[in-house]
Parts: sequence; structure tokens; C-alpha cells
Amino acid sequence: MKACNDAQGIIHSFQSLGTVDGPGVRYVVFMQGCNLRCSCCHNPDTWELKASKTYTAEQVFKNASKYVEYFGKDGGITVSGGEPLMQAQFVKNLFILCKENGINTCLDTSGSILNDNVLSLLDYTDRVLLDVKYTNNDDYVKHVGCTLDTVLKFLQILDQKHIKTTIRQVIIPTVNDDKNNILKLKDIVSKFSCVDKIELLPFKKICQTKYDELGISFPFGTLPTPQAELMQELNLLLK
Ligand code: SF4
Repeated sequence: MKACNDAQGIIHSFQSLGTVDGPGVRYVVFMQGCNLRCSCCHNPDTWELKASKTYTAEQVFKNASKYVEYFGKDGGITVSGGEPLMQAQFVKNLFILCKENGINTCLDTSGSILNDNVLSLLDYTDRVLLDVKYTNNDDYVKHVGCTLDTVLKFLQILDQKHIKTTIRQVIIPTVNDDKNNILKLKDIVSKFSCVDKIELLPFKKICQTKYDELGISFPFGTLPTPQAELMQELNLLLK
């Protein structure tokens, strides 16, 4: 793995006016590098912490600031990936600049890395979008590459720090698209008062071309996209 200078962030791409990665309109930073290999991953091109462009926190902040008038009262900046926690010191530097300037900060993460840098970053994080990808450990180990416990420990820290949290789960036909899974997710999450929202996202395959270009197989490439009616039914279980 390429060693990274904490002052520089290795970044895959930016989205100026995102509306699906946290509340309101947001400037989204997609970090390069991921410690996991999810079978449903939409962004395999972010996995390797290789020679993508590097930026200082100041440079990213300056770019994001251009859009501040669009953020309104709910919007702000989201750092996603890849896995942003792999570059926690850089993200912390960026979030400190945001907080100094009254910009809301949001972290989109798998919650699979916990160290002093991560703990410190969380002190400047207004909201976390946390993937709870499966509700059982076997699927986590098989289809993600970490344990469910690791993620729940991370969620516990968010709870202790009173950080508003959105839980996200991608619904994948034949893997986790059953009602029992959703009821279990609801039950797991009910123990954490920091969670104010659960989002179920339909599995999509528009990323197939990325896998083809990288010459790697998409483990869930043969699975279908869930029907809208099923998504509706599963969402109703969360009410
Ligand atoms: S954590 Fe996210 S970026 Fe990393 S492999 Fe999983 S889905 Fe892909």
C-alpha cells in the first residue's frame, strides 16, 4: 500500500452538488482507497490507494466553499469513498476547516476502521452515513471482509459521541432482501439512540462497466435489481 502523507489527501473525484450523500445539497469528496472488498461494491475503481491526484485540505476546502450558497441550512460537505477512514487525519484537517467556517460535515463510511485518528476525526463530524451491510456475521465475512461486530463497535462509539447517524443498507436479491433481515436491522439499530434514519438502497449494476474496465469479476454481477414494490414493502417494515 502506498504510504500517504497526512497533509495530502489521495482523492478519486469530487461531486459539486450532490443530493444523495447526506442531508440537503452537498459537496462530495470521494477518497481513494478501501480496506474492504464488498461483493456489491459500486466503486471498485476507488479500491487501490494508488496514484490518484493528491490535494491539501485547504485546496479541497477552497473548492467546496465555492458552493456554500447552495448548501442551505441542511447541506454541507460529505466525505465518501472508497473508505475515508483510511485517510482520517486528512479528513479531520478538512472537517476542522469546515467547522471553523460553519459548514456541516458528513462522513460516509463502512465503519470498519477504529483508531486514534478516527476517534479524533469524529469530534469534527456532524453526521455519519454508516453502512450496516448485513445483519449476520457470516455474510459480513463472506461478502465484505470484516465482521459485523467491528461495525457495531463503531456504531457504539457514534452513540457515545452523540453523532447523528443514518444507517444504510443495500438490498440485494437472494442475499438480504427478506423481511426477517429488515426486522433484524430495525432491532439492531433500535439500541442506538444516535440513529435517526435508516435508508434501504436498491442494489444496482450500472457499475458493471467499471469491473469490465478493471478486468475483475463483479461477484454479484448476475443478481437482479430488486423490484420497486419489494423496496416499498421492506421500507414499510421500518415505520
Ligand atoms: S466499503 Fe464501500 S468502497 Fe469499500 S469495497 Fe465496500 S462498498 Fe466498495
